[in-house]
Amino acid sequence: MSTLRQDPLTGRWVIMAAGRGDRPNEFRLMRRDTEAGDNCPFCPGNEHRTTPEILALGRETGAPADGPGWRMRVFPNKFPALQPQVSMPEETRPTDRIRDLFPRRPGVGSHEVIVYSPDHAAGLASLTETDLFELLKVLRGRSDVLSRLPGHRYISPFCNHGPEAGATLAHPHMQIIGTPEIPSLVVDKAVRMADYRSRTGQCLLCDLLSTEQSAAERVVRSNDQWTALTPWASRFPWEMLLVPTDHMAYLTDADDENLKALAEVLSFCLRSLSAIHGDLSLNLVVHSAPLTPPAGEEFGDQRLDELAYSPAEDFHWHLEIMPRLSRPAGFEVGTGFTINSVIPETAARRLRTGG
Ligand SMILES: [Zn+2]
Ligand SMILES: [Zn+2]
Repeated sequence: MSTLRQDPLTGRWVIMAAGRGDRPNEFRLMRRDTEAGDNCPFCPGNEHRTTPEILALGRETGAPADGPGWRMRVFPNKFPALQPQVSMPEETRPTDRIRDLFPRRPGVGSHEVIVYSPDHAAGLASLTETDLFELLKVLRGRSDVLSRLPGHRYISPFCNHGPEAGATLAHPHMQIIGTPEIPSLVVDKAVRMADYRSRTGQCLLCDLLSTEQSAAERVVRSNDQWTALTPWASRFPWEMLLVPTDHMAYLTDADDENLKALAEVLSFCLRSLSAIHGDLSLNLVVHSAPLTPPAGEEFGDQRLDELAYSPAEDFHWHLEIMPRLSRPAGFEVGTGFTINSVIPETAARRLRTGG
């Protein structure tokens, strides 16, 4: 079982998961292995090397679980950062956490893997819109299940593609981690959205979206339900932000039509990025609202608990694509500043044309 520790100076939570050091790392030499082989635990035929699957799509009716024939497979991470736990020890009470100079709580949560293609050499950019739509529906379904589990305060679906993005296995996959605390980045966004609403009566992202659409300078692609843009203050070169037109707090609020529209915009963005850079390392993350705490409980984060607006309703969910062409260095890690060498308007111009 891992442990969460909170830094009393910054409020940031750190997951101490010593066992994850044992997991296989295909990228030790920092080169991409595109050869499918006996060594890949995610390739068809090697299903016995993962934990038993939670769900699989594509197998013929009656075909046994944990065998080949699938086009998508979901299973618990073999080296989880966080694990479900039934009972909550006393030490997790919020009052204890705040008083302590060494706040900690057990690593309760979930950690699942979604292998979204049997093809070892595939990537998000090589998926068809139909494949992406199916993947988004699976992410929505698993997020819904995990968000109902005890002790879960936030659900984070994400993709690490390539060694510079933190992937340790080449085979295309996404992950979902359910956490017992709300990530500080999401708290920051929820607080800023609430502050904007208290000053203007409007949603920050709804306003941002309509302003960006009329200026069009940073818009990469849009349809009637989704817009992709290069954020005004992009941290990473070629970074993109994908925002739904309708105000919704969670990925789980999106209906099929909405996810289909997202798949179209997402597919364009990923293909455009790889037309420019080839098979580059990237992270994709979904940011939804913090989960509503159970009746009688608070969010457990002082800033959220003091908000006048509901972070569970006033949040506007979105996706971020973060290409990892350079590594964070001392200044970035030490200060939180980032230095971006590609101006977002220039990136948007290139990305818009499909590369
Ligand atoms: Zn593989
Ligand atoms: Zn909104």
